[in-house]
Amino acid sequence: MSVNSLAVGSLYVSRSRSRRGVPPIRMTVRSNIVSVAPFLTKLQRDSATPLPVLRYVADAMTTDMRAGLATDGGSDLKMILSYVDCLPSGGKQERVIATEFEQVSIPQELMFGTSEELFDFIASGLANFAKKEGGKFHLPHGRIREIGFTFSFPVKQTSIDSGILIKWTKGFAVSGSAGRDVVACLNEAMERQGLDMRVSALVNDTVGTLAGARYWDDDVMVAVILGTGTNACYVERIDAIPKLRGPESFSGRTIVNTEWGAFSNGIPLTEYDRDMDAASINPGEQIFEKTISGMYLGEIARRVLLKMAEVGDLFGKSVPEKLSTPFALRTPDLCAMQQDNSDDLQSVGSILYNVVGAESSLSARKIVVEVSDAIVKRGGRLAGAGIVGILQKMEEDSRGLIFGKRTVVAMDGGLYEHYPQYRRYLKEAVTELLGLEISKNIVIEHSKDGSGIGAALLAATNSKYDHDY
Ligand code: BGC
Ligand code: MG
Repeated sequence: MSVNSLAVGSLYVSRSRSRRGVPPIRMTVRSNIVSVAPFLTKLQRDSATPLPVLRYVADAMTTDMRAGLATDGGSDLKMILSYVDCLPSGGKQERVIATEFEQVSIPQELMFGTSEELFDFIASGLANFAKKEGGKFHLPHGRIREIGFTFSFPVKQTSIDSGILIKWTKGFAVSGSAGRDVVACLNEAMERQGLDMRVSALVNDTVGTLAGARYWDDDVMVAVILGTGTNACYVERIDAIPKLRGPESFSGRTIVNTEWGAFSNGIPLTEYDRDMDAASINPGEQIFEKTISGMYLGEIARRVLLKMAEVGDLFGKSVPEKLSTPFALRTPDLCAMQQDNSDDLQSVGSILYNVVGAESSLSARKIVVEVSDAIVKRGGRLAGAGIVGILQKMEEDSRGLIFGKRTVVAMDGGLYEHYPQYRRYLKEAVTELLGLEISKNIVIEHSKDGSGIGAALLAATNSKYDHDY
């Protein structure tokens, strides 16, 4: 059996990065200079994640998961049913015969436009992609091409191929999509493009990642995205989901999308987090996401550095103007600075100059690296605690089946992939919480771009057509 829905299943859409020129260096001169050391100490204290804090967060994650499984709205965690209860496996039915990959960036203005505009953009990207690869796989006459649709936002699924958007996250504020079925939105846009395609599987990116990783490795039980935003899903037993009433699934298991970005219990927050949250387009929401994911780490650091420059003497007597621009400092900038092992922190200096127009002394550069490290350390360690929260929930229900044998957590997302310090902090926290013996059984591994393939495999599994040809 071939999987021709795969050929169009691997379209990736990601946020565009704003272009950055060399910033103007305009300086404000002040008096009353204060040392920045106390600010750093306070930041490190307020964001600290010693073992008891990690333990509290992991336990709270477990408790919130149970509450969300018991009733809808019973917890910060939505615990969304994915309607995926049959996972692909390399040895079984579906087979990946080819993958084509194309990444298209979403223009900034579409993040604040209308739903129609956004879905038209996605459908036109799909049309271009299909035109290019269309010659390679021929469909029998009259057959519609089936696609897997990875949608990286919280969706209340109503079936494997329909679902209502709950809310936008990650800075998106698209109008006209509240209460609408996102599959219908895409189908209508595809029709406007004259595309002969239909969505057979709608999946969250975590669910796609889990399915894609499972294709290669049967021990994958959890998938986590740490990118612009964050989320996790896992394999749950049907009988452990009180809120699910209805026909038992064949396998007795299903994937649950936790939407853990909305978790908030016991997270150590600083004044900078509170200010950033208050200024965001979704205040009070996605607190875990705002402390651990890629969209926000650079912005938290910028706020700390701004304070250190305004109230303290971080960059001498002046406050680099660009430092006041929200999101001017991005997480990849923090990452690049943290890779500088030189004595004079030359590249930290040039990044500060290029990105925020700051002229820095060596001691200022050292402070900047420590600020970055404090924020990244908290993020990585809390993400690790979240993973342990999920694993211990599964272990409690299965006694030995998670901790007592090899269990794989599939990881994806740019933050996890590209930030070595973040990755190390995450793994250290998992080991601290579980102990050496158990953590030997827990394999946390990168599953690169598995979500598109996973979605395509699930589209094939849920194909409405007979595959015998
Ligand atoms: C969304 C999730 C998504 C995650 C990672 C979050 O903001 O709510 O649905 O899985 O980002 O992309
Ligand atoms: Mg397999």
